Amino acid sequence: MEWKYTLPVNIYLINGDTSAVSADYLRSLTADDFKPVETFMRDEANRYGRSGHASIEIRLGGVIDTQPPQPPHNGSALEVVAWSLKMRWWAYRNADTTGPGPQVKMFLLYFDPAQNRRLAHSTGLQKGLIGRVNVFASRDMAKQNNVVIAHEFLHTLGATDKYDPATNQPFFPDGYAEPDLWPTLPQRYGEIMAGRTPLTQTEAVTPASLDDALIGSKTAQEINWLATGG
Ligand SMILES: [Zn+2]
Repeated sequence: MEWKYTLPVNIYLINGDTSAVSADYLRSLTADDFKPVETFMRDEANRYGRSGHASIEIRLGGVIDTQPPQPPHNGSALEVVAWSLKMRWWAYRNADTTGPGPQVKMFLLYFDPAQNRRLAHSTGLQKGLIGRVNVFASRDMAKQNNVVIAHEFLHTLGATDKYDPATNQPFFPDGYAEPDLWPTLPQRYGEIMAGRTPLTQTEAVTPASLDDALIGSKTAQEINWLATGG
């Protein structure tokens, strides 16, 4: 995507587990709860010398009462394609946007953390600019939810994962926020598309908030913030 202007990012709230806890939590959310994602993108754009033109504007699109199609678990390439088409059609039918130009749609599915210790993987689709994100219905988890939202949002812009799916350990150097740091480990920040801050060769922790995350240079290339070079 050619990214020159402020990109609207519409956030839609969904009760993922149809629990009362999630329902109450959804009602308490405002656009301000997602501002850290906007701030993170602006600060990182500045750090890469991009003007405010490559920024985002979070818009709260409200609550949606139907569930989006479930992505296939370990699906074949064909199943994934079929799901992504279904997902795009569902998004088109269920989420209105206002105004012209490309806009991102992020569907946040909330789950009661007391009933769901772990959440299924979230997904960001570059085609259609759609994210389907599983998050926790808890104030305590709100900052970490924003890390996941920023990660999936960046997928919609074409950023790729930078961790080993077998171990969840960030790849070196692309999954390191500061690969030139010496000593290299522990890293001080988590690269947003690695999703974790490596502490040792075998240990990594999820950033507690976007204050502890950065966009690495490979991710910056993928979202056209940097020339790819020769
Ligand atoms: Zn990812």
